[in-house]
Amino acid sequence: MPRLQQAGAARPRTATVLAALLAFAALLFGATGAAAAPADVRQAAEAPQPAAAASSVSGKTYVIGTDTTFAPFEFRDAGGELTGIDMDIIRQIAKNQGFSVEIKSLGFNAALQALSSNQVDGVIAGMSITEPRKQIYDFSDPYFESGVQMAVAKSNTDVKGYEDLKGKTVTAKTGSEGETFAKSIAGKYGFTVKSLDQSATMYELVKSGNAVAVFDDYPVLAYGISQNNGLKAVSEKEKGGSYGFAVNKGKNPELLKAFNTGLADLKSSGEYQKILDKYLKDPSQAAQSSFWDLLANSFPALMKGLGNTVLVTAISFALAMLIGLLMGFLKISTSVLLRGIATTFVNIFRGTPLLVWAFFFYFGVPQLTGQPIDIWVAGVLTLSLNAGAYITEIVRGSIQSVDPGQLEASRSLGLGYAKSMQKVVVPQAFKIMTPSLINQLIIMLKDSSLLLAIGFAELLYQGQQIYAGNFRITETLLIVAVLYFVVIMLLTKLANVADKRFNK
Ligand code: GLN
Repeated sequence: MPRLQQAGAARPRTATVLAALLAFAALLFGATGAAAAPADVRQAAEAPQPAAAASSVSGKTYVIGTDTTFAPFEFRDAGGELTGIDMDIIRQIAKNQGFSVEIKSLGFNAALQALSSNQVDGVIAGMSITEPRKQIYDFSDPYFESGVQMAVAKSNTDVKGYEDLKGKTVTAKTGSEGETFAKSIAGKYGFTVKSLDQSATMYELVKSGNAVAVFDDYPVLAYGISQNNGLKAVSEKEKGGSYGFAVNKGKNPELLKAFNTGLADLKSSGEYQKILDKYLKDPSQAAQSSFWDLLANSFPALMKGLGNTVLVTAISFALAMLIGLLMGFLKISTSVLLRGIATTFVNIFRGTPLLVWAFFFYFGVPQLTGQPIDIWVAGVLTLSLNAGAYITEIVRGSIQSVDPGQLEASRSLGLGYAKSMQKVVVPQAFKIMTPSLINQLIIMLKDSSLLLAIGFAELLYQGQQIYAGNFRITETLLIVAVLYFVVIMLLTKLANVADKRFNK
């Protein structure tokens, strides 16, 4: 019975699992510890401020959400730094009023959701002040007049007005005024609206012919067209709301007040006009750089993203293993109750999309509890619970596929049930489950890219931030894909070597 001899190998593995558990606990506490800092700031900011509201912001740090790209209001410069009219305004007001800002580039719709869930303190994103929004947010004084306009591909000679849209598809940004406007006339002119999250992908959709037109704010379209983005405006601008800085209704009133005071100061000192002129009068033309320049410029940001991808996967996998082992054993237990718990867990997390949980943990839970949740905690919970459900089944299947004769033989040699499991069955099950676990790890690394939807700065998110600014989608995605591929190849090699060493 040679297989029985493997029993001894279980011990170092237990030690490895324990070490992973400890490392995970340390990391998790580290992450929540880090999360506590902004929460404290937020609490302090929410405390009633009796007098001198403007000074009550001084020394504090506020988290501000914004769009990924809404040039010239927010976009990344060649060095990857967030820049634009909104960025200059909020930074100068912060300086003027003595507070600090931490900017989170989330995307327009995600920024609004983050504000509703108190994940950010305010939003500046070329956000129009509209009646429905005033019901849920408090707005600053308006700082820029805007309105919606329609643009088509430069080469398009068929679409000159709304009448030419019959039976066609147009695009607009999810949750934006442009989308609301397009939808309001879609029935009348007989077109369909396909909503996307980002300006860059909207424009790409039009250039590729998958949509004939885009509805967006006219200053943004005008800026893009001046940068040769391949579009041309065809309609008159529709009257729209002015842009304002928003906070959650009733929250951070001192921040709103400081914004208004600072804005008035910038206007009277002429700074405000200088900012507008900098971006609108003489926008620097984006120079067409080579692929190698693109690679060199984007590499540091992509590497940072890759680091986060690998780290969030590693932490989540360690946790998923713990969950999977625990639930896997519950699944083969003799108790109906314990089996029921494990089955329910698997059904819930295997039966629902990962993204639903990412949104739930990051945007939903804070709305229920009133406490913001750290993005790492939300990301790790999402990935580990999902993978934990699959690993549960892997563990159960592997244990059950160990020849029952092994258990019988061990018992007949006088070992008890628990000892037989520990020394004979489980070590063999580990050998069976290793290839499936490697698969699961690779799936998890790829799935972690979904976390970009909540603004987690992993690899694909960084890629998106880059092409949102330079519109070079194909090349950027190619670089991102190669990076994923290389890491997954290395991981597979490593896992196979480990498998060969430990599971001989
Ligand atoms: N001004 C538009 C709105 O508020 C679009 C803003 C944006 O896309 N960042 O809906």
